[in-house]
Amino acid sequence: TDISRIRNFSIVAHIDHGKSTLADRLIQATGTVSDREMKEQLLDSMDIERERGITIKAQTVRLEYRAKDGLDYVLNLIDTPGHVDFAYEVSRSMRAVEGSLLVVDASQGVEAQTLANVYQAIDAGHEIVPVLNKIDLPAAEPERVIEQIEDVIGIEAGDAIRISAKTGIGIGDVLEAIVTRLPHPHGRADAPLKAMLVDSWYDAYLGVVVLVRIIDGKLRKGERIRMMSTNALYPVDRIGVFRPGMQVVEELGPGELGFLTASIKQVRDTRVGDTITHERKGAVEPLPGFQPSIPVVFCGLFPVDASDFEALRDAIEKLQLNDASFSAEMETSAALGFGFRCGFLGLLHLEVIRDRLEREYNLDLITTAPSVVYHIYKTDGAMLELHNPADMPDVVRIDHIEEPRIKATILVPDEFLGDVLKLCQDRRGVQLDLTYAGSRAMVVYDLPLNEVVFDFYDRLKSVTKGYASFDYTVTGYQEDDLVKMQVLVNDEPVDALSTMVHRARAEARGRAMVEKLKELIPQHLFKIPIQAAIGGRIIARETISALRKDVTAKCYGGDATRKRKLLEKQKAGKKKMRQFGRVDIPQEAFINALKMD
Ligand code: GDP
Ligand code: MG
Repeated sequence: TDISRIRNFSIVAHIDHGKSTLADRLIQATGTVSDREMKEQLLDSMDIERERGITIKAQTVRLEYRAKDGLDYVLNLIDTPGHVDFAYEVSRSMRAVEGSLLVVDASQGVEAQTLANVYQAIDAGHEIVPVLNKIDLPAAEPERVIEQIEDVIGIEAGDAIRISAKTGIGIGDVLEAIVTRLPHPHGRADAPLKAMLVDSWYDAYLGVVVLVRIIDGKLRKGERIRMMSTNALYPVDRIGVFRPGMQVVEELGPGELGFLTASIKQVRDTRVGDTITHERKGAVEPLPGFQPSIPVVFCGLFPVDASDFEALRDAIEKLQLNDASFSAEMETSAALGFGFRCGFLGLLHLEVIRDRLEREYNLDLITTAPSVVYHIYKTDGAMLELHNPADMPDVVRIDHIEEPRIKATILVPDEFLGDVLKLCQDRRGVQLDLTYAGSRAMVVYDLPLNEVVFDFYDRLKSVTKGYASFDYTVTGYQEDDLVKMQVLVNDEPVDALSTMVHRARAEARGRAMVEKLKELIPQHLFKIPIQAAIGGRIIARETISALRKDVTAKCYGGDATRKRKLLEKQKAGKKKMRQFGRVDIPQEAFINALKMD
């Protein structure tokens, strides 16, 4: 393809503003997929994504479009994920394209992820075309939103395209704008090959599939390639493009986006951001690298039934084939037996993986308290990366502890500002900035990540009735007065419930936890003390009273169905319990005990 006829772009938007719907319309309008094959949200392929309406893996599609100038163009769209946990996916795919459609819901306006994503696009040097979506809605206020884009983001938006991705209004204008307003890529066909490794995933039939953007040179089937970061060599079996299904092609030239397969065994062997070149006469200098994504939230995953351990191991290995950003190491817990300590990019990522393990692999799992990674500086000068509070060294050997902090940006309507400030303050936040954009406030806070990972987003949604939007980036580590809090159930410490807390918050946190556990753990035939402790000191205590022997006695008299139902309910409840000493703890308790409300 003539490089001047290529346009590579992404769509950036806040979640639910219509990115996937617009992508579908573009695919349809260019005849890439027949109407019969068209199903809604074609690019959101995994079931969980479909159900939750979120896009996790970046997807790409090649559209062929005859423009009003009578010429044929190739338009490559990369669909990027919209959730904070997957920000790294956004940044990597941004560097593979030259422009972005900035989609803003005309009835909602600019939100936190609009900002975070558009700034990434601006950082990547993109030309940006503002698109106002959902103009079919009576609540749409395109003029106000144009002003807001100009004020808040600081880009020209007078020529924003007004569309309805739902009804199809304005889709033709979007296609024309892609051709006329976005720049074509640059690159030299006769230079040594430089291809950017944008993404990779495991395909059951093809093995590892690598998404590449050719910067310079040409890539053909049968050639031998070299990964510049590792010097690993592979013969290329297949190259192709996405339409949106995979279609084999003869070669990929500068400016093009496509895939290659090369008998690569694992996704781990492909480093996102790496430069791919030819084995012979290859490039000397790699492209500037991407930032590797690192897990920031860790938790233990244990099978409820110990005999499912092997099945869990297999399932984790299968999921890792496709997701190199999810780490897992075997772990043993005194209370929970054999399981895995797993690392995730954020809490949503954790939930998605846990759901898939439970649903697709039919496993019953106990998830232990999520934890961030602490840096423990020991008195002997060594630094320990603590992924699990249970592994905390003896306090006498600790000099100081550092925790990760984030910069959080929250956009919220005025009326809820007070509640948001209080929430951030309660979570040890330090306010960095507070500005107004129309009737919305934009607050920027420096917060400890550990105060955010459990339930911050849920709390924020609830105090603002769903009107706040939130985005964050991890900024670095900072020392604070952090201690390990243990929980004792029936006088036995349950390591899976240990957490790191700030000393000043420990008592309140401990009290909240034991109260929660009191509700979550069912009554037994004996009294159960539940205690929170720091070092050997008890800071909070509750007691679950003993159960009367005949539980069905309270179903006055002879209602047999009610009695049976109650017994069945108890039996069903049992299945999801785990025994600790003499006490049965339901599996949800491990994660719910940490949520504060
Ligand atoms: P994404 O999260 O940005 O990918 O958003 P989606 O494309 O999944 O759209 C979110 C919701 O908005 C879905 O229920 C869509 O049907 C709806 N939607 C998208 N575009 C329009 C539009 O132009 N008008 C209206 N009324 N609804 C739309
Ligand atoms: Mg989507």
